[in-house]
Amino acid sequence: MNILIMGPAGAGKGTMSDLIIKEFDIPHISTGDMLRENVRNQTELGVLAKSYMNAGKLVPDDVINAMVEDRLQQPDCQKGYLLDGFPRTLVQAEAFEKIAEKIGRPVETVLALNVDFDILAERITGRRICPKCGAIYHIKNKPSRTEGICDECGAELIQRKDDTVEQLKVRMDEYENSTKPVIDFYEAKGLVSKIDASQNANATFAQVKEALGKVA
Ligand SMILES: [Zn+2]
Repeated sequence: MNILIMGPAGAGKGTMSDLIIKEFDIPHISTGDMLRENVRNQTELGVLAKSYMNAGKLVPDDVINAMVEDRLQQPDCQKGYLLDGFPRTLVQAEAFEKIAEKIGRPVETVLALNVDFDILAERITGRRICPKCGAIYHIKNKPSRTEGICDECGAELIQRKDDTVEQLKVRMDEYENSTKPVIDFYEAKGLVSKIDASQNANATFAQVKEALGKVA
């Protein structure tokens, strides 16, 4: 099963990804992780990417495309893949279409996670993170044992500066503007499954499974 997963920050993409890779035994390929791994391992593409990053520039599409092409040919992608964070633009989607075809791993389903704005706002403004160990809490859905203190390491929890409704609006607009052409591209191919991620993880995953033809 070759899957793309898309959704705005706070839509629960991470949680869904974890459930999907367990159920279908395929690797979760986040382009952010992939990029960091290439840089860390100093692969040819990683070194190239680093030179752009050091110059304060975006890593160009052809470098990212080449990394994705490399990654999807690894043996663990034999049964499929869950690609996350790519393609982000129509140009990338068109390039990826050619790559996926060339290596015989075409996209079969695009999961588009949608969340009501109000629910997203509640999730995001309630989020508290530990600046020391990175643990993530939510004042309502996943409170720490002692208010404002990390369960793991005892550090004082903070709220990220951009976890506000105003910033969320900006991010959502950006997300919609940039992903709409990508969604439309796959929609024209009949590959998009819209998932209502406003519900809890179990109910959302039930929809995902149904979309992937494996009904709960
Ligand atoms: Zn902590």
